[in-house]
Amino acid sequence: MRVDYLRVSVTDRCNLRCIYCNPLGGCDFIDRKEILRFEEIHRLVRLFAECGIRKVRLTGGEPLVRKNIIRLVRELAGISGIEELSLTTNGVLLEPIAAELKDTGLKRVNISLGSAERECYRQITGFDLLSKVTDGIYKAIEVGLTPVKINSVVIKGINISQIPALVEMSVRLPVLVRFIEYCPTSRYTSPANYYVPNGKVRKIIERKFGPLSSVVVGNASGPALYFKVEGSAGAIGFISGRSSIFCQQCNRLRLTSDGKVKPCLYSSHCYDLKKLIRSGANDEAVLDIMRRILREKNNYTRLNSSVRDFSMQNIGG
Ligand code: SAM
Repeated sequence: MRVDYLRVSVTDRCNLRCIYCNPLGGCDFIDRKEILRFEEIHRLVRLFAECGIRKVRLTGGEPLVRKNIIRLVRELAGISGIEELSLTTNGVLLEPIAAELKDTGLKRVNISLGSAERECYRQITGFDLLSKVTDGIYKAIEVGLTPVKINSVVIKGINISQIPALVEMSVRLPVLVRFIEYCPTSRYTSPANYYVPNGKVRKIIERKFGPLSSVVVGNASGPALYFKVEGSAGAIGFISGRSSIFCQQCNRLRLTSDGKVKPCLYSSHCYDLKKLIRSGANDEAVLDIMRRILREKNNYTRLNSSVRDFSMQNIGG
């Protein structure tokens, strides 16, 4: 598998406290001086592009809370070799800046949304901000940050009842609504409490909407499998990171907000590029390590990992 996709977490800070990611009271933030500066992110992305990275996704924390994010988007979009720059956001701050993000070179957005109903949304995220997110979704469609993908982590006892309303969004709007299996990130959040297999989500959908037909979306290189409810403007997808294993198809690296590259989400192994660049390493030395990371990527997979505690808001999902 050619590794050409880099997810860059630009901050571990977030304006929401989603129960599956960074619940209220559950977070320790990284010291600000340990977070990569824009010029450091730019340099690392430029060098990764020399090693064959073609797609970059900004994530977090919440990338839109990072000050001057539009400047970073402009700078990264201008790097030779980067063909697609996208962003994963909770959507709360998106509406007022969506057009400017598009104009500065962002291609598309993924927006996290676990509920189309106000009270359930508040229960998941800790904040009564659903209308801001829906405004952001409409605006993203309007300005062409497309295809807009809606990411919904399904949580037992919290938002199973919201599945039909989320599917309805894909019927009404040209969006891809993706159901994501909960991934346990801490030894304290037992999967038994939260995890709902996508097989069950699919059954709930088919009971209400009838059989789903499979569709191909874009270049189909990601982990999602897509389906359509008959007559819908968009499609739905399933990302089944717990009930199935797609390590063989994994084409991505993750750069954490404090400058470490993780070859596998589930592995504790990482390469500290911030330490390297802050120690004064020249481009050739950084490229050497990057090439090694790409060579060694397949040594680290969920199949041989035993990581139990990690921070999604630092890694970026
Ligand atoms: N703040 C942005 C947002 O909410 O989309 C970006 C960061 S968030 C960490 C990125 C992605 O991680 C989201 O799409 C979310 O669905 C996913 N995520 C976070 N915690 C997760 C978990 N425990 N299991 C599965 N997906 C998770």
